[in-house]
Amino acid sequence: MPIIKNSGSLYLPDGDIVLFSLPKDDVITAFKVDRVLLRRASPVFEAMFALPPSENNESYDDTPLVKLQDESDHLTMFLNALYDSRCIPWQKNGLRTVREVDGTLILAVKYQVDHLHQRIVSLLERDWPSILADWDINEAELNIRGWPAVLTLTPEPCEVISLARKCGITSILPAAFYHSARIQASSDRRLLSPEEMKNCRSADFSLLSAEDFRRLVIGRNKIMHIFRRYLTEAHSYALDTHKLFDSSRDKCRSDLDGFKDRVELRVFRYINDPLTMMRKEVCMRDESPIQSCYSCKDRFIRSLESRRNAFWEELPSLFLLDSEQ
Ligand SMILES: [Zn+2]
Repeated sequence: MPIIKNSGSLYLPDGDIVLFSLPKDDVITAFKVDRVLLRRASPVFEAMFALPPSENNESYDDTPLVKLQDESDHLTMFLNALYDSRCIPWQKNGLRTVREVDGTLILAVKYQVDHLHQRIVSLLERDWPSILADWDINEAELNIRGWPAVLTLTPEPCEVISLARKCGITSILPAAFYHSARIQASSDRRLLSPEEMKNCRSADFSLLSAEDFRRLVIGRNKIMHIFRRYLTEAHSYALDTHKLFDSSRDKCRSDLDGFKDRVELRVFRYINDPLTMMRKEVCMRDESPIQSCYSCKDRFIRSLESRRNAFWEELPSLFLLDSEQ
């Protein structure tokens, strides 16, 4: 038989309804709260409390009792947020954001508490944006943290994917999948020592469902394939206007060849991150190491820039998420 323990701060002496959690380690947590608060926030509770009293109604501590099918941790988080939504974190790119909001979000979905739901979704959407310009701002802000903090002090993407799946938030999936794809499969947090985790991006891939892990692997391959294609296309677009019989055309061609190979090597071997790579070329236009004539260089970079935007738009389909948007 599980024992019942009253919640510390959420067992209000003048509360008029008691909620039981599911037992955990044989302990049920009892919450004594205000019925009016639940009723106003949630149509589900409103309907529950509108049922006429019957002989089967149970009570606890001389107060009507409702046995919920929710974990005690989730209820604690959710009820705290209902009483004071300021306990929901607000800062961007918090390392613990998902763990600090998951219970509240899961129950806000279940009990249809719209204001908590919206608040948390917009917090997650700031960290995992669906607009490329917002992604770039985020990356710039993370980069301020410096090396290697930028690798280790960024939010873990698989836990947010897992939460998004539980709560049906598809808007944050492309960015979270892209970030996961930048992380080597060997940088699984379960395989790394704490020392190793300080020097690389890592993720807890075990949090992904088999289907999402498959999406990630396929998406990662497609990203590299598409990036190689972009480089080839930018290369021929760049040379397009350089006159065919001009002797310096060969020099432009060989320089762009060399540049393309170096970029490919870096992206494929080390950083797995075409978005950052392309942005760097676009931002560093004037200091770009490309030695070709101005026109070829300009056209090469402009081509990458427009393809970079197209690439972002393609992320949902690369990760097979487009049918879910
Ligand atoms: Zn040229």
